[in-house]
Formats: sequence, structure tokens, C-alpha cells
Amino acid sequence: MKVIVAGAGIGGLTAALSLHAAGIDALVIDAAIALRPLGVGINLLPHAVRELTELGLGDELAATGIPTAEHVHFDRHGNRIWGFASGLNIGYRWPQYSMHRGELQMILLDAVRARLGPAAVRTGTVFLSYAEAPPGVRAQVRDRHTGVLSVLPADVLVGADGLYSGVRAQLHPGEPPPCWSGIMMWRGVVEQAPFLTGRTVAVAGANAALKFVAYPISRQAELRGRALVNWVAEVKLPGGSATAADWNRLGRVEDVLPWFADWTFGWLDVPGLITGAPQILEYPMVDRDPLPSWGSGRVTLLGDAAHPMYPVGANGGSQAIVDARVLAWSLARGATPAEGLAAYEAARRDTVNAIVLANRDMPADRLLHLVSARAPGGFGRIEDVLSAAELAAFDQAYRSTTLPDVAALNSRPSLTP
Ligand SMILES: Cc1cc2nc3c(=O)[nH]c(=O)nc-3n(C[C@H](O)[C@H](O)[C@H](O)COP(=O)(O)OP(=O)(O)OC[C@H]3O[C@@H](n4cnc5c(N)ncnc54)[C@H](O)[C@@H]3O)c2cc1C
Repeated sequence: MKVIVAGAGIGGLTAALSLHAAGIDALVIDAAIALRPLGVGINLLPHAVRELTELGLGDELAATGIPTAEHVHFDRHGNRIWGFASGLNIGYRWPQYSMHRGELQMILLDAVRARLGPAAVRTGTVFLSYAEAPPGVRAQVRDRHTGVLSVLPADVLVGADGLYSGVRAQLHPGEPPPCWSGIMMWRGVVEQAPFLTGRTVAVAGANAALKFVAYPISRQAELRGRALVNWVAEVKLPGGSATAADWNRLGRVEDVLPWFADWTFGWLDVPGLITGAPQILEYPMVDRDPLPSWGSGRVTLLGDAAHPMYPVGANGGSQAIVDARVLAWSLARGATPAEGLAAYEAARRDTVNAIVLANRDMPADRLLHLVSARAPGGFGRIEDVLSAAELAAFDQAYRSTTLPDVAALNSRPSLTP
């Protein structure tokens, strides 16, 4: 069986590795002229780290990312509201990692080229359209160097081509543009001294409309006694209109700093992080409504192409990785490619669609909002602001939307066919 994967992002490259491990031939095409380590921080939850570990990449992840110790929420004055341990600290057999998205992509790319051969990833190759051509499928592509159009035959086509997926557009013509939450995210990376445990994901804010997230992403910096801190500043723009979502668009200090100018906590200097970043990236928080189907016949979707979600629960990259593993598992077991794809979609679609919807209403945002409404000037003891029952309810809601069951992940059989 030969699979063409359109898109060499986190999902597409993991799909190639997973298909190879299942004995299935894969070719990955990407529109980018060259794959470079773009982006800033990304979080991989234990369920995704398990899959990459079973693909033999555990040592590379450990040498690159920070095994997250805890997630802690603060008010906009830096007072601790509530937190929970994460990854290994709550009993998962695999860590959660915070790491640089570009470094993760390069780990995956190197592994694909080493295992499948240097020609397995073809850059500068734009997916244009497909045609079902029984008993297979044909993808029409354009070479960006020469402009030449050609047709690539395969048994299966997987659209892993991200938010503006061309495969999705052909499967679901006439879809509206991505849905914008009204929130703009500015992101940057700064090296500084470690803060809190040195492995903390810190979320500070007044509500969903004004929030600052910071976490360290580099094991190599940690080994030098430093922290490479990834930060995300989120602001709901009054009366704003969505710009096209481009992960590489540059932002400006003057647009973001005024919102956070006095957010100096003692343990974290937010204005210092904003002004200290060599570059700031700007991205509107967008997603798409869940799809009623991901594929048809020998064509399917994976990762952001199938289910772009707000990047608030550390789940975008993680779910793309799990998709990739389930896809390979299902294709290896299906009697026909179409049966395999149907089994993949049945295993994944409803679960991930539910996460897309849950990310639109994060319990943690409601928590921040409640605290800022009750104690706008800050507080000394959180017990004076929230009851134990309220905190327990938030804890439960957060776990059920963000964290899969620890025992279930630890005990479920491997997806290696
Ligand atoms: C450049 C970039 C930077 C990012 N930075 C961050 C970040 O800092 N933090 C974060 O949390 N998430 C980031 N993301 C998003 C994150 O990678 C995804 O949400 C998640 O990992 C799911 O990955 P994916 O493989 O489904 O999609 P993506 O990672 O978006 O990958 C899609 C790939 O498809 C390719 N592609 C698109 N159209 C075509 C076409 N017509 N033909 C061929 N190839 C095509 C793109 O070049 C891209 O390589 C970034 C994405 C990109 C593309």
C-alpha cells in the first residue's frame, strides 16, 4: 500500500513514521520550499509522548523538551489561585513535554528521512486537488521550483495540510473561513533565569480576554542553569476583525505591551518578557466547526486539517500525533484501504470533535474570571475568594476536558501494529 501525506507538519511527519512502522509505504509532500524549525512553544500531553516514544523518539524528546511538572493559575497580580501536577507527577508512565515546535518538527523530519529515505519528504510540492481513480487515488501537485504540474498515484491520500487544508476544501466545498474567537495571541521566546519550579506552566489572567501564559521549553537551556521561556499573551480585541491566520506573521511590541505594562509579579516579569523577545509572532485564536465526516473512500484528514482547535488545552499537536498512530494502525488492519480509513475515523472523529468544542469554553478561563470579579485588586488567601467546593469543581472540570484518564492511558495496549 502506498500513502501520500499532504503536509509535513507535526501530524504529517508522525503519520509517515507510523505508516512506516506498520509496513506501509509513505510519501510526504509539503508546500514549503524547505522545512525550517518555525514556531515557538508547543505542549505534548502524555498520550502523544507515549506514541512518539513507541516510535523510538523518547530519547530525542527527553534531550530537547522540558518534562512539565505542574500547571498553575494566577490572578493578574501574580497571586496563586490553583494548580495541579502534570505528566509523570500524576502517575502517567510518560511525561508531558513543553518544547519548541520547530525542534519537534526537525526531530520528526530527521527520523522520517533516516527511516524512509531522503526522498520520502518532498518539499516545494503544493497539493492542488485529488481524483478518485479506482483502485486508487491521484493527487495533482505543483512543483514550486519549476511550476510543473504532475500527478502522484497512491492507494490512500491523507490531508495533513493544516488550517487551510486543500484536501479538506475539496472534501467539504464551501466551508466558511475559520471561526475567530476575537482573541489575538502574541507569542515570543526569551532566555532568562528559571522561575518557580523551573518546569511550571504558569497561566495568569483576569479572564479569557486578558491572559498571559509562560513556560520553559528547552532542556538544553535547563542544563546550563537557564530557562528558555515561551510566552503567549492573549487579548480579546474590542471591535477587532480577524486577520488571516498565519503562524509566521510578525507582531509589534507596541500592540501587546500596553495590556501588560504593570504585570510584574516578583516571580515573573511580564513586561520584561514582552520587550526581551527577539521577535514577536501574532496569531488570531481560530478554529473551525467540527466536521460530520473526515473523509470519503480513499481520502481522509488528520491533525489541524481535520480539527483545528483553540490552542488552549495543549491538544492541537498532541491530537495530530494520536491521529497519525491510529491511522496507521487502522490501515494496517483494514481489509481494504477504505475500510481502514473508516475505522480510523470511527475511532477518532467524535472524540476530537468534542475537544474542539470543549476548548471554546475552558473551565480555567471561568475560574480566572470569577476570581477577578470577586477580588479585582488581588487577594491574600484564595480560601477567602473561592470555597473548597468551587475549587474542587474547577479541578474536576479541568481534568475531564484536558487530561485523559491516567489509568486508561497507562493500561491500554500499544498502537504499534
Ligand atoms: C509554521 C508553523 C508554525 C507553528 N507554530 C506553532 C507554535 O509555535 N505553537 C503551537 O502550539 N502551534 C504551532 N503551529 C501549529 C501546530 O503545529 C499544529 O496546531 C499542530 O501541531 C497540528 O499539526 P498539523 O501537522 O496538523 O498541522 P501544521 O503543523 O499546520 O502543518 C501543516 C503542514 O501542511 C503544509 N501545507 C499546507 N498547505 C499545503 C499544500 N497545499 N500542499 C502541501 N503542503 C501544505 C504546511 O506547509 C505545513 O507544513 C504552527 C504551525 C505551522 C505550520
